[in-house]
Amino acid sequence: MTSSPILKIAVNVPLSRTFDYLAPAAGPPPSPGCRVWVPFGRRRQVGVVLEHAADSAVDEHRIRRCGEPIDAEPLLDDNDLNLIRFTSDYYHHPVGEVVAAALPSLLRRGRSLHPTIETVTITDDGESADIEALAKRAPRQAELLEFLVDAGGNGIDAARLTEELPNWRRSAKPLFEKGYLTRHAARAPDFDESLAEAPVAGPSLNTDQQEALSALRRSDTFDTFLIEGVTGSGKTEVYLERMRDIIRQDRQVLVLVPEIGLTPQLVGRLERRLGIEPALLHSGLSDVERLAAWRAARSGAARLVVGTRSAVFTPLKCPGLVIVDEEHDHSFKQQEGLRYSARDLAIVRAKHLDVPVILGSATPTLDMLQHCRSGHYRHLHLPRRAGGAKPPSLKLIDTLRAPATDGISEPLADAIGRHLDAGGQALIYLNRRGFAPTLICASCGHIAECSRCDSRMTVHARSRQLKCHHCGAVRPLEDRCSECGETVHPLGEGTERLEDTLRSRFPGRVITRVDSDSTQRKGAMHEVLGQAREGRADILVGTQMLSKGHHFPMLTLVGVVNADQGLFGTDFRSAERMAQSIVQVAGRAGRESRAGEVLIQTAFAEHDFWSTLIEGGYAAVADQALAERELTRWPPFTRLALVRAAAHRHDDALAFLELARRTVSALDDGSLRVLGPVDAPMARKAGRYRAQLLLQSSSRRVLHEVLRTLRPRLEDDPAGRKVRWSIDVDPIELF
Ligand code: ADP
Ligand code: ZN
Repeated sequence: MTSSPILKIAVNVPLSRTFDYLAPAAGPPPSPGCRVWVPFGRRRQVGVVLEHAADSAVDEHRIRRCGEPIDAEPLLDDNDLNLIRFTSDYYHHPVGEVVAAALPSLLRRGRSLHPTIETVTITDDGESADIEALAKRAPRQAELLEFLVDAGGNGIDAARLTEELPNWRRSAKPLFEKGYLTRHAARAPDFDESLAEAPVAGPSLNTDQQEALSALRRSDTFDTFLIEGVTGSGKTEVYLERMRDIIRQDRQVLVLVPEIGLTPQLVGRLERRLGIEPALLHSGLSDVERLAAWRAARSGAARLVVGTRSAVFTPLKCPGLVIVDEEHDHSFKQQEGLRYSARDLAIVRAKHLDVPVILGSATPTLDMLQHCRSGHYRHLHLPRRAGGAKPPSLKLIDTLRAPATDGISEPLADAIGRHLDAGGQALIYLNRRGFAPTLICASCGHIAECSRCDSRMTVHARSRQLKCHHCGAVRPLEDRCSECGETVHPLGEGTERLEDTLRSRFPGRVITRVDSDSTQRKGAMHEVLGQAREGRADILVGTQMLSKGHHFPMLTLVGVVNADQGLFGTDFRSAERMAQSIVQVAGRAGRESRAGEVLIQTAFAEHDFWSTLIEGGYAAVADQALAERELTRWPPFTRLALVRAAAHRHDDALAFLELARRTVSALDDGSLRVLGPVDAPMARKAGRYRAQLLLQSSSRRVLHEVLRTLRPRLEDDPAGRKVRWSIDVDPIELF
């Protein structure tokens, strides 16, 4: 008999390595993909076995023995572990943290795959209790009771309660005793995808859609498709047909959607058309719900798995197709911790699984377009709107000739009036929430700034607050200048101010504001969108939350207020971004029989960007931007990695990055460009000084070799203890 193997185990700690343990003394050694408890320092942690090895670099008598196994069989199979390893290598991120990101939180914490769930429910007595009287004596009990009244007859799981009301158990005790609440524990029911209703047939596909579908149908193994289809061209109908094929073969489809793309509207459409219920994975779920969906994907019980970013890691029993809808959306890139791109990992995963992957967008990123040009990906086009709707016409309003008062110019106001009178709906887009971005003193010129960031405070008139949109700092809005005591004035406009302007200009009309402030309450977004869809709002005013994927049948006018923010941006992606957001929001207009009109207010009507966009559409802007990037050697023609550091002392951040620079320069064979260290564009945020070092190379291999050496050195260096630092591979924000 051979001696027991060494287990290479991933533990959720910020170190780029696995840890060696001896297999448990009794029983067979846990297989790769199983969780085990391990002693770690003085604590016990959940670890995941990544592999078995014959020996260890650690001294034999110093290796600790792992504790009891958690799983009898692997939670993660070879494919799942390969994706985890790839992610850790490619993003130069500790493998233990990647495993943690890939697992639902209950599993990360060591709970069983089928945990017992404690549910708390309100009784009839509880329902009829006098909450107001209770609130006077025992406000916490009243709060809990109210919560459970809202939860209704099915009750709520205890873990969810703990998230919402951390000390609920103390207040619950007397309520259980009075018979106001009951609880029971049971294993969570398994997911069942069957629906009562049979699938509903969709429209018959037009020629463009049929061609795209045929191309998709020709490939059953790995291939990357980019469907570039104008908004409303029927991309979703094409995916649906291909999804149906795969589901009929009893194989699974994984669909990744942007953060706010996972609307009840989309889910309802998928259910109706495919006749099965999808397993959903998104941030709005309770831990228990998330685990149930994850389990259904892993067991194959769910043939359709739809989720946001982190769903890319979901195990699949018999995968057949991966879809990334709205691939240009920024929410696919995680901006903290493990800074991965779910879109890019979806492609890698499809390659590992040898299944096709479909990316869809009306405004594809230049990165994906370049892959199509170089022949790696297949480019499919849907150039026309489906069902006969016409593309909206784009026109500029030159605000030098027709100045905007409180955000709205005369020509835009006229157009709004015209469209409303004709029974249409208008959407006014401004990607800035709050009342005004600046509060200035008319007398001394003092501007209200955040004390912790290099930024101005935004005026929020509804809540009478000044808020910092960068660190979340809040203080009361005063009418007088803190320096000289004279009157202060809000300068510029945000969505709140636009809402006021529109109200005074269009009295009697229903005006609905949609931004992250107005939709904080759970379910608020759903309500507002329903209102808009059914035509119960005349004017919608809001941020980019309004621009994504929504279908408002009555909407005929889109007004873009203050479009100039991106024209002179310092980021090399400014033009691409701006074209994406304008084309996306414009795509909300005229999606049915009524023709759509899009008016854009700009103070730079002569700028080339506009003529390119208006005459050639997104494709023309993309062509031009790609040519520029090739000339200036920015991505996708080169690769980037950004090392960021933040510290309480400016010098600590710079010293750390200086160390990084020296390490990198020593490894450079001449194909690396190192920029910095320099202060971040916003040098102070939330009380920390921020600096960065940008690494650029035309060779992915060189860049990654450098990072592979750099990461452990930075982890080991004492200078790193004084700073928060990170490595961002393929960053999409350069600050
Ligand atoms: P996209 O995903 O490109 O935005 P959708 O698939 O959502 O487009 O389609 C936009 C609208 O056009 C939807 O209301 C859809 O039902 C309709 N539609 C799509 N394809 C067709 C078609 N071939 N014939 C008629 N209507 C269609
Ligand atoms: Zn701040």
